[in-house]
Amino acid sequence: MVRIAVMGASGRMGQMLVATVDASDQATLSAAVEREGHGWVGRDLGAAMGGTSRGLVVTDDLGAALAACDAVIDFTTPAVSVALVQQAAAGGVAHVIGTTGFSDADLAAIASAGATGRIVRAGNMSLGVNLLVSLTQQVAAALGEGFDIEIVEAHHRHKVDAPSGTALMLGDAAAAGRGVRLGEVADRGRDGITGARAEGAIGFHAIRGGDYVGEHDVIFAGPGERVVLRHVASDRALFARGALRAALWLQDRGPGEYAMLDVLGLTPRG
Ligand code: NAD
Repeated sequence: MVRIAVMGASGRMGQMLVATVDASDQATLSAAVEREGHGWVGRDLGAAMGGTSRGLVVTDDLGAALAACDAVIDFTTPAVSVALVQQAAAGGVAHVIGTTGFSDADLAAIASAGATGRIVRAGNMSLGVNLLVSLTQQVAAALGEGFDIEIVEAHHRHKVDAPSGTALMLGDAAAAGRGVRLGEVADRGRDGITGARAEGAIGFHAIRGGDYVGEHDVIFAGPGERVVLRHVASDRALFARGALRAALWLQDRGPGEYAMLDVLGLTPRG
């Protein structure tokens, strides 16, 4: 059994991860971690989740949690994940990062931790989205710049970052298909007198509201026709199952920062 620590155990994803690990016959929950001062710290996890007591107390002692686990699954905030990545690497603990909203400096810090640590980082852990990433790259390459690419995403009202990590993954894939860098062509959230659409731009638009789990459309709008690739997530258990799969997969890997495409065996070849 692979021993798993869940960071941010009271969060939307944290609680889903606890349930997913509990349902697994390959993993066991060794620690539930919350931030210092959080109301769940010191309480029994089962009771805090509204069920019966289970004999595992929610902790803010990250060092002790890491010492007693094989993998830590982390859907928290960029600052927490960047601090954790070095600590997990130093402790020989596999680190699955589902957090989104990283800056370029954060991403560089995570990449450098991959020299010694075992890391899977993915803005989206679902099979369908990762397949969509591959398809987006292929379609962008096949259709060329005569087709305008727009990425439209929708998430629940509590989401704090935009565009979503998934939208950025899709944008990166579209840019790679065209042989350009996303940073040079991204056009995020137009407003006002923007002028006509720039040739080769990749547009991003974010809908926020209600309880959307996560929806992404990649629109290729050409003369006289449109191609739309769509993914709809209707249950966040999907992401938790992907994260657990990544944690198990990392147990047989050497150091490196891996993507969900690697875990799923969808890494493009050549
Ligand atoms: P949330 O706010 O419900 O949960 C975050 C939790 O982290 C909170 O419980 C918070 O108290 C906890 N936390 C903060 N600081 C901490 C610390 N120092 N130690 C331990 N815990 C700490 O948010 P959420 O909806 O669960 O999303 C979390 C992140 O995961 C976001 O970045 C979101 O975009 C991302 N996400 C990714 C995927 C994916 O597939 N990669 C899917 C869903 C959400």
